[in-house]
Formats: sequence, structure tokens, C-alpha cells
Amino acid sequence: MNYVILDLEWNTAYSKSAHRFVNEIIEFGAVRVDEAGNVTGEFSRLIAPRVKKKLNGRVKTLTRLTNEDVAEGDSFLTVSAAFADFVGDAAVMTWGTTDIHTLMENYLYYCNDRHIPFLHHYCDLQAYCERAIGCYDEGNQIGLGRFAEMIGVQFSEEEQHRAAADAYLSLRCLQAVQDKLPLRDFILPADCEAFYERMLFKNHYITDLSSPDIDREQLHFQCDQCGKQAKRVKKWRLRNKAFQTDFYCKSCDRRFAARVSFKKRYDGVKVVRKILS
Ligand SMILES: [Zn+2]
Repeated sequence: MNYVILDLEWNTAYSKSAHRFVNEIIEFGAVRVDEAGNVTGEFSRLIAPRVKKKLNGRVKTLTRLTNEDVAEGDSFLTVSAAFADFVGDAAVMTWGTTDIHTLMENYLYYCNDRHIPFLHHYCDLQAYCERAIGCYDEGNQIGLGRFAEMIGVQFSEEEQHRAAADAYLSLRCLQAVQDKLPLRDFILPADCEAFYERMLFKNHYITDLSSPDIDREQLHFQCDQCGKQAKRVKKWRLRNKAFQTDFYCKSCDRRFAARVSFKKRYDGVKVVRKILS
């Protein structure tokens, strides 16, 4: 499968008509790669912002784009339609899912429909690359520049934070780790409602012990000294989004505290259990 690595730049602006802040996309940058890893195309287009014509200071500093630069850009609909032609049936990849959320937001703003017409297959490169080198941690996502440093991919800081440069750097990171883990397992079908449900799903801790999502087996603990089933001697209490209580092992005459948390995710519940003392 051919793939396209996409990176976006955007400017946050308050829309009086929509009564909310909008992350207005100002640049699409992408690189297309064939099955063998050869670059077969590049896409780099600016979009003239509509909600607010002046870029925020932080965006100007980061991208080194000026108000005049983006003013010469085309509309979001023109650029995104050209990008759809560029993508064709290739899988789209982004570093983390933030760009996908921003695309949904822009389509919602301009078309009243958050569906992304050029998205047929999707891969979160950040999740893939982090897993490939065994450092995936949901709560601590690694930025592109930091990841490149970690794996020894050289880049010039000055060239980054423009969409096409970031897309190229993502490609180099991908190619540096691609032999470690099959990429195809991370490519999701994206032209279905399930994809949008997955993207919009908010991970959360289960704080009600009677929830049907809780596997009751996880509420039993064995003694960490002898391995026998311990008896719970207190009520479960919720503490920092985890359930905590005390257990007693008769064989060892030992009392210990234990903690278990249940995090609900789109594709299941992640359980973390710990004996505290
Ligand atoms: Zn014991």
C-alpha cells in the first residue's frame, strides 16, 4: 500500500459566528511514499485563514510564516480538495492524532460535517513508532523532534515546524524503526463510522465499582509472600481514580494494602493492579 505522511500547521482563532475557538488550518504539508519506501510526491500548500487573518505570535515564531505569506494561500476547501487528489487511495499517516482532530474540526466548521473525505486508511505514526522501539506510554506521548533525537535521526531545528519538513522528518523516523514491527497492523480502515467513534472516544477511569466493564476477578488478590488467596478486610475505597483496600493472609498473618484501577478505552479496559505494602 502507498502511503502519505501528512502534517498540518494551524492558528487558533475565536469565531464569533460559531461562538467558539477554531484551530484554523493554515498549511498542509505531505510526502507520498510507495511500498518500497521511495518518495513519489510532495505536497505543500498554504491556506489563507478566514476566521482571523492575523497569525498568533506563537505560530509566527514557530513556523516563521508571516500574515502576508498565508494571505496568498487558497481556501481550505480548495487546498483540501487538491490534497484529496494527491492522496488517491493511499493510507494517510500523521504523528499523533491531533492533526486528525484538527481536520475534523475544520471540515465541521467549513462543511458542517466532520468526516474527512480523503481518509480511507489511517495510521497513527506516533503510536506505531513508540511501540516499535518499546517506549509506548499512553499518558506520555513523545513529540516528533524528541523521538528523532531518541533514535538518533539528525535534523535541523530551524527547518522544523513547517508542515512539509515535519512530514519528511516523520518519514525518516518511520523508516528508521520500520523493520522492528509490522506497520500493516497499525493501519486502520478510516472510511467508516467506527473510525470516527474511535477518534472521538475519550479514555476515562471507571470510578463506579458496579460498572459492568469491571472484571470482578481483578478484585481478588493473592498474598505476595505465599501466593495464597488473601481475604479482603475493608471496603473498597476510591482514591486518585483507583480502588484501594486492605487484604489479610491467614497463612502469613500478614495484612497488606492493594490498589486496582480500570481505564476504559475504545478497544477495552486497561487494568493496573498493585500491592502497596
Ligand atoms: Zn501469605
